[in-house]
This record gives sequence, structure tokens and C-alpha cells, in this order.
Amino acid sequence: MPELVVHSPVHIGSGEKLTPYDFVFGEGKLTVVNVSSFLSESRERAEDFYTHASRRGFSLKDFLTGEEVSAHRRYALRCFKEPKDVSSAIKTAHGGAYIPGSSIKGALRTALACYFLSRGDDEVWEIIKNGKDNTDIRGIRRARGRRDEKMAGEVVEKALFRCGYKRKEGDRFTSYGDAKYDILKLIAVRDTPPVPPEDCLEVSMIKVYSFNGARVKAKGFETFVESIQPGSTFEVEMLVDTKFIARAEEMKSETRWIGLQDKLESLFGISGGEGEQVIERKVLTVIEEACRFFADKVIERELSILPEELYVHSTCGTVLTEDLKNRGKNYCSKCKEGNLNGSNVIKLGEKAKEFYESIRGKTMLRLGFSTAWYSSTVGVMLDDELLNLLRRKFGLGKRYSSIFPKTRRFAFNGEGVYPAGWVELRGVGR
Ligand SMILES: [Zn+2]
Repeated sequence: MPELVVHSPVHIGSGEKLTPYDFVFGEGKLTVVNVSSFLSESRERAEDFYTHASRRGFSLKDFLTGEEVSAHRRYALRCFKEPKDVSSAIKTAHGGAYIPGSSIKGALRTALACYFLSRGDDEVWEIIKNGKDNTDIRGIRRARGRRDEKMAGEVVEKALFRCGYKRKEGDRFTSYGDAKYDILKLIAVRDTPPVPPEDCLEVSMIKVYSFNGARVKAKGFETFVESIQPGSTFEVEMLVDTKFIARAEEMKSETRWIGLQDKLESLFGISGGEGEQVIERKVLTVIEEACRFFADKVIERELSILPEELYVHSTCGTVLTEDLKNRGKNYCSKCKEGNLNGSNVIKLGEKAKEFYESIRGKTMLRLGFSTAWYSSTVGVMLDDELLNLLRRKFGLGKRYSSIFPKTRRFAFNGEGVYPAGWVELRGVGR
């Protein structure tokens, strides 16, 4: 079975936050406590808790005894710095950490969209640019602003992935607006099997940087997240609906799945008449190629914007300024610490480059952290790479690109710093 190998911290959020009422921090560990089980155990201690909890500076760590912490602990994660709060990773009802199939699929979709667009023929580009008569595909010719990115995402989605349908036979109008007739519906990705949090999660600190040429600035506060540790592996099941594809000729009708066979041919090289095994191999091979292609493009771009000389404070992530009094020593304007060197200084530019070199040529996907805006109605993320393609072709968003400096998220886990969210897909396409 194919595997996902995690290369840099991956955070897929549950939407919930752990607060100091949920955890105890100490000795490089964050212990998440089951407070409701603690409260239901002793009435006296519960009353105690309610009296103290509303006071300023309350901390679960000072309140609970070590025994209470171990009696009611849910799990404990490696954590290099005390967080204010922590965004939880998605977990099953039984508390197991996993990677949702939908996240993997979303990342695949982005990679496939970039791949297909790059080798797209003139006809596809023409549709994306000017739309298609008698359909609900509008062209993105007029899209210029940030808000129009959503529209652009829909157009790309429809032009690349959607088959058409008509309300009734003989209708002139064909709609591409129904996700039921999406070609990627024919590929299913299952949730990975759950793993106990302690076996795969850690707490990492996320810092956002804005890149403006050689000028790099840390933005806002750091945030803490439960993230999957580099080195973790997950089995991932990908199912290609080969039965449906093999019967594509029969499945499509006057009103449903219009253009199915053409799409299968142009996207996956399936021309009809292939056996199911051949179909599966063709689809998975394209997926693998798309991931390589996408990662390659992103890596190329990232390497070009990363300045060589970019030093940050290892504990807070602030970009360091060179201390004038001590040449070669660094000063953290946030921590008001000077004379930083050695283990306190992370060469972010160099580290990130090393990381990208280490994943170059591999079949990579980027999960969880989108660097760009996400379209909620359709699946395609208008990733920077995708936007770049559209910009190069049509000048989309050109006017606004200077207002939105490029931002990048990096994850610190006490051992290193990583561009977040990179996983390798192994064992696909063979
Ligand atoms: Zn600092």
C-alpha cells in the first residue's frame, strides 16, 4: 500500500484550541489533561478548581498535583517552549491522530491542476481565458483583483476537472457546476489509520514571514500547533474507480458526464478499451508525475525567493539584526537579547534551502498549510504556483501583487526549522 512519509511538521487543525485550562507545560513537554474526568472525581477538588480558575494568573500546573496530572492525562507531547494556547490537530472520536483523506485529496487536486494547466493545450487555455459559449464557464479575462481569485479558481476547476450535464436532452445549455460530475470523484483517498498522539504528534511554533526582495520580516505573534512529526509514516489508501472508467462510454449519456472520454484521454491518457489494471496504473502514474512536477515548481520558486543571509532567533523566530557594538553578534529586538550566536541563531535561509534540496525529485505533496487563499466552494487551492501560471498567461492579479507581499510559514520544533506541511507519497504509480 502507498505510504505518506512526513518530511516537515504537518498541522491539520480540528478547529479547536487547547488553553492553559487544558494542559500543563514542563520539562519540554505539554501534558494535555482530561479536566472533566478530574472534576468528576472529587467534589472537594472540583469546588477548589472553580474558586481558583477564575483568578488571574491561574495555571493548571500550579493547581494540580503531579499525581493528579498523571491520573488524568490524555497524552503528552514534546514541546520546546511554553505556549499560550495550542491549536489541536484533527483526531478521531477515540483520540487517534490521522491525516484526513480530504486533505490529501485537496493537495492532490492542487498538484494535478498545476500539472494539467502547464501542459494544457490551447483549447483549455482558450476556455479558461474567454469561457465557453452555452455553458456556465465564464472566462477569467476580466478578473483582476484578489477577490476574483475565487472566480478564477472555479473557472480552472470547471475547465480542467468537470464533465458537463444538461437538464434535459436537446438542451443547448451545458452546466459544469455540479461536483457530482467531477473527474476526480473517480479517485478516492481514505483517511489514514489513526495513531496515538504520543506516537506522531509534537507541538511546533509557527512563524509567518513576509518576503519583500531581500527584506524579510516576521509578522505578528507566533502560534503553536499540534503537528505531525517529521519522520512519521502513514499508510494511505487510494482507490481508482477503474470499473467506472472502463465503462466510460456507457456511463456518459446525452445529459450526464458530457465529455468524460475526452477528459480521461487528455488528462490521464486513457483512450478507452484498456483493462482495469492498466487504467489504475495510468491514473496513479499521472498522480505521481503531477506531485513531482508541482513540488519541483514550488521548490524552484522558494529557492529563488529565499535570501542566503537570513538569521532568526531560535526561540522566538524574530529576524535578527546585527549588533552594531559586537560585529558578527546578533540582536533580537523582541527578546531584547544581544550577543546571540551559536545555538541561539538559526540560519533560516540556509536551513530552508537544505530542506528543499533534500526533497527535490521526490513525489511530494503539501498538506495543511496553504500559503494562499482557499476557495471554499470548489476544491482547487489557488496556490501561488497556480496564480503564477494564470498571471503569466493573463496578467491576473498583477495590479495587486505589490500590495500583497509574499508570506511564508515556517515551523520550529526545537530541533530545527522547516517549511511546513511537506509529505512524500511513496509507492504510487508502480
Ligand atoms: Zn527573540
